[in-house]
Amino acid sequence: MQGASMAAIEEKIQGGGRVDVAEARWLWENASNEELQRLAGVVRGRFHAPGTCTYMVMRIINYTNVCVAQCDYCAFYRLPGQEGGYVMAQEEVFRKLDELLVLGGDLAAFNGGFNPALPLSYYCDLFAAIRERYGDKVEFYALTIAEFMYLADHAKLSFAEAAERMKAAGVRWITGGGSEILTEGFRARHSKFKYSVAQYFEAQKAIVQAGLKTTATMVIGFDETLEERLEHLERTRAFQDETGGLASFLCWTFKPYFTPLGAQLGSIEISTGEYLRHLALCRIFFDNVPRIRTSVLTQNQRALEGLRYGADDFDLPIEDEVTQKAGATISLDFERILDYARELGFTPSYRHVAGSVVL
Ligand code: SF4
Repeated sequence: MQGASMAAIEEKIQGGGRVDVAEARWLWENASNEELQRLAGVVRGRFHAPGTCTYMVMRIINYTNVCVAQCDYCAFYRLPGQEGGYVMAQEEVFRKLDELLVLGGDLAAFNGGFNPALPLSYYCDLFAAIRERYGDKVEFYALTIAEFMYLADHAKLSFAEAAERMKAAGVRWITGGGSEILTEGFRARHSKFKYSVAQYFEAQKAIVQAGLKTTATMVIGFDETLEERLEHLERTRAFQDETGGLASFLCWTFKPYFTPLGAQLGSIEISTGEYLRHLALCRIFFDNVPRIRTSVLTQNQRALEGLRYGADDFDLPIEDEVTQKAGATISLDFERILDYARELGFTPSYRHVAGSVVL
């Protein structure tokens, strides 16, 4: 980018201005880690007091692994009729929620596959039963946007109608997920049955318009280009400008093990250093998203270094079969992880989503 300089970009950000895609590219290619940290800290400071951060203890409930989408970065799914496919009964879900409560958590996120054998009633009955049994003691992220789209399609409902049905079943959140890299090129290469980017945002808009809460996500470390990463950021920021519906942004890294794409790429993960730089760039770019989350699930304790790169929030997950099948490891030694946040100079406090204490 001709004429760009760190001084000019810094002056813009310090003055409350917004970086454009060209400036974000320039920062990625030219800024040092310290410069990215400093600029991310300026934007973070508009939303959060220095030295503060929040966390949640949560579990992802993978209610079915049967899926017809066949993404080549997935080690989790089984095709219909294939050995090892499962669907969880309500009792199994309740057992997992009870266990979560015992471990001090109060948030569950449902994430499964595009399972053609599951009717809309499976989801509505399950979510209504959870609300009835747990009330506000537990909150749940009901499905990712991608599963929501499949569910709507499968039930022959518009996105607006499907959102209303979810709401009537007691759902409050349908979170970003199944987004990976939001460019049509990436989806054509790796997940051609997983809907277009335009459809993704159309579904998310219907969710916001129905009065449900939602979030943005991103996954890096596949074969995506810098331009694809920047396009993802640009489209997400534009969606937030239009709707104001995104409560947070979470980026995690691709776990390549036992996946077809991983085998093709040599099962190499991107470095934590690259992840941290990307987090900082996201914090700088998303001047309209209050919360930037760092991924303990895929980066373990080192994810907390993201707090110095503009992140302000993280999960302490107790389970996620999707990423664990692809090589993620989980520690239940929460105190050790929280101590690391303190060593880095941050005071972590629990963020309750259940009961809507803090959103
Ligand atoms: S990533 Fe999700 S949608 Fe894709 S194959 Fe795996 S379970 Fe299915």
